[in-house]
Amino acid sequence: MIEVFPFAGLPVAVFGLGRSGLSAARALTAAGAEVWAWDDAEDSRARADAVGVPLVNLHDCDWSELTSLVLSPGVPLNHPEPHPVVRKARQAGCEVIGDIELLVRTMRDSRYIGITGTNGKSTTTALVGHILEFAGQEVAVGGNLGIPVLDLEPLGMGTYVLELSSYQIDLTYSLTCDVAALLNITPDHIERHGDLAGYAAVKKRIFHRQTDPRVAVVCVDDEPCRHICDELEDVGDQRVVPVAVGRRVAGGVYVIDGVLHDDTEGHEAKIIDLTEVSTLPGAHNWQNAAAAYAMVRASQVPALVAAACLRTFPGLAHRLERLAVIDSVTYVNDSKATNGASTARALACYDQIYWIAGGRAKQGGIADLASQFSRVRHAFLIGEAADDFASTLGEHVPHSRCGDLETALGEAAAMAREESLTAAVVLVSPACASFDQFADFEARGDAFRALVVALPGERAALDDLHALDPSPAGMIH
Ligand code: ADP
Repeated sequence: MIEVFPFAGLPVAVFGLGRSGLSAARALTAAGAEVWAWDDAEDSRARADAVGVPLVNLHDCDWSELTSLVLSPGVPLNHPEPHPVVRKARQAGCEVIGDIELLVRTMRDSRYIGITGTNGKSTTTALVGHILEFAGQEVAVGGNLGIPVLDLEPLGMGTYVLELSSYQIDLTYSLTCDVAALLNITPDHIERHGDLAGYAAVKKRIFHRQTDPRVAVVCVDDEPCRHICDELEDVGDQRVVPVAVGRRVAGGVYVIDGVLHDDTEGHEAKIIDLTEVSTLPGAHNWQNAAAAYAMVRASQVPALVAAACLRTFPGLAHRLERLAVIDSVTYVNDSKATNGASTARALACYDQIYWIAGGRAKQGGIADLASQFSRVRHAFLIGEAADDFASTLGEHVPHSRCGDLETALGEAAAMAREESLTAAVVLVSPACASFDQFADFEARGDAFRALVVALPGERAALDDLHALDPSPAGMIH
């Protein structure tokens, strides 16, 4: 744990007592700060109380005594409108900050690597941590992924590798990343930022105050990111490394037909054929791999070492996680795919898919996946979305309504075994939230894993069976 000594002796408000809020409250208390903690949910307050976090109703307290509010990233800061506690803090002239800000103010000698983007943050963050660790650097990995940052080890001169959501960036002011990466911007979370321009402006702040030799890695595969890359290059404060998939970018890192190239040293060098890395399937993972490569190169890792570590990446749990090959059928857990866009990427990776989908549908459903339907042998529908998905699949894809995951897996496994196609994959990629039947996507993926473990049949060896679990217990430090 990191003791947040700059706040020793001061009263500090902490609002939102989920994992990061509790962690902040503990780290502040350990440093001798006077914590006033609150959450609107009674059960969260009860959990905090049980571990000795002092509660003060922040809706009804004397804000003139406070100078800082530490806010959980999930609490609305500006859009659709500021939470009442945020309003109170601002009226009293209090700063509103997050746990990343507390980390940065406390660990002033450390290096920081920050990763943001709409998608791929966790995978890329884990990749960077994996490579730097194997390269012998002292690193701690956390943030939006896995461990709340104030629960990480104090590193001194080591490197914090941080996954940063836009919500967290919104609450961070003093961070200057030695290496920062922006992966992509699509309009997923704009409700919290007003509009796409507001969302992009927050993401751009990951490059805040970078000066040469600090490095900005910018994936230029979408328009908002291309625009940001151009702006950074025009201003010329930091080193900018563009990253692309499917085309060359002068002076950058790019992937052509799955082969990662490095042109950052004045000549094009072929680094690794990513199609041979089974834990990074699909063009979206090539983007993640290329960005991670660019970041670790900017952190003094030799190209050969970086390539070797990309090969040994164990993958992340719940993201196209290969669980087993049983009777020549591959079982893949992509429970993290909670919307159509993520599932589209999963379907694009395989050709003979027994697809388990459904749960609590998001807006848009699976209509946008039609171009991938020819890859699906049969769809096994579960949860609340089953009727809706069935009508979208209609005549195009054979499907059945299975109710729950266990029934769906039983039917999918039986059909895949019977048809014995050469590249059969039973894929859970729900395109839905899990909350109708599970606590969260991790619980859904864990349930699938347990069911697959219990399946009968002859298992082939899988050398990459142990995907990294980014939940606290399985995190890399
Ligand atoms: P995040 O942490 O940003 O949510 P993850 O690495 O956990 O991202 O990946 C979540 C899902 O997003 C994956 O299952 C995949 O479907 C999709 N995804 C991953 N990387 C990318 C990318 N670079 N571009 C687009 N989609 C991606």
